[in-house]
Amino acid sequence: MKCFCGADLNLNNVYFSSGEVDFINCSICDLVIRKEFPSNSELKKIYQNSYSSENIVRNSTNQCSGNYSDTVYFNFINNKLEGYDNTVLDFGCGTGHLISLLKPFYPKSYGVEFSKSARKFSLEAYKLTISEDINNFPNEFFDFVSAIEVIEHLTDLSSLSCVLKKIKPGGSMLVTTPNRNSFRALIEGGNWREAKKKFHLVLFDSKSLHYHLKKIGFVDIRQIRFSPVQRPGLKFFIYTRLTQLLGIGGTLCFICKVPECKV
Ligand SMILES: [Zn+2]
Repeated sequence: MKCFCGADLNLNNVYFSSGEVDFINCSICDLVIRKEFPSNSELKKIYQNSYSSENIVRNSTNQCSGNYSDTVYFNFINNKLEGYDNTVLDFGCGTGHLISLLKPFYPKSYGVEFSKSARKFSLEAYKLTISEDINNFPNEFFDFVSAIEVIEHLTDLSSLSCVLKKIKPGGSMLVTTPNRNSFRALIEGGNWREAKKKFHLVLFDSKSLHYHLKKIGFVDIRQIRFSPVQRPGLKFFIYTRLTQLLGIGGTLCFICKVPECKV
C-alpha cells in the first residue's frame, strides 16, 4: 500500500495503540492514513445516511460546520477578498450554508459536493445549484477556494491538484482539517471521535499538511493560529485561542496560494 506521498507504507506502523487501530503512519511525510478505505459505493452510502433530511434539520450530519462556524469562516473569507467581482468556490460545501452567506456579497460563489442528498438540500433550501465535480469549472477560474473539513475525506489528494488548476495564478485557498495533535486527540488516542469516523481517511498534523500542500504546488503556505472557533462565548474563545497557540487546537487552518506564474 502506498501513501499519498508515493512512499511504501509499513503496515506494522500502527498509529494508535488502542481504540481505532486501522491507521498507519507514513515515515516519509508523517501522514496518518486509514489502512483500508471504504469502497466508493460504501462511501456514497455513508454520506447518504449522514445527509438524510432528518440529520440536516437536526444539524447532526457530522459533516456541516454549524452556523456559528460558517459565520466565522464567512468573515475570514470576506476579509481576504477584494471585491464583489471575486469568484469563490466552497469545495466540499455540504449543504451549501457557507455559500448562502457568501452569495449576496459575492454573486459568483459556487460549490462542489460529492453527496447527492446534500446537493438536493442546497437546491431546496438555498436555491443553489451545486456541482458534483470540480472539473465542470474552467481552469484558472476562482480567486478563492475554501476546503473546510474536507481533505480528511479525500480518497486521493490529487483532487487538490485539480483544485489548484481551477484557481487563478495568485489566488488563495483556505484549508481546515481536524488536528491529530489536538488536546482531545492526545487525551483520547484511538478513541478520538475524528479517528472513529469511518469516512475520515487521513489524519493530519501541521507538518504533514504543510508537506502535502507544498507537494501539490501551493506556495506561501501559512498556518493561521487564530482560526475560526466553533461556538460563541468568552469561555470557548479563550479555550480555542489558547489551545491553538500551544499547537493543540481542534482544527488546523492553513492558507496557501497558487504561484503567480504556474510552472
Ligand atoms: Zn507519506
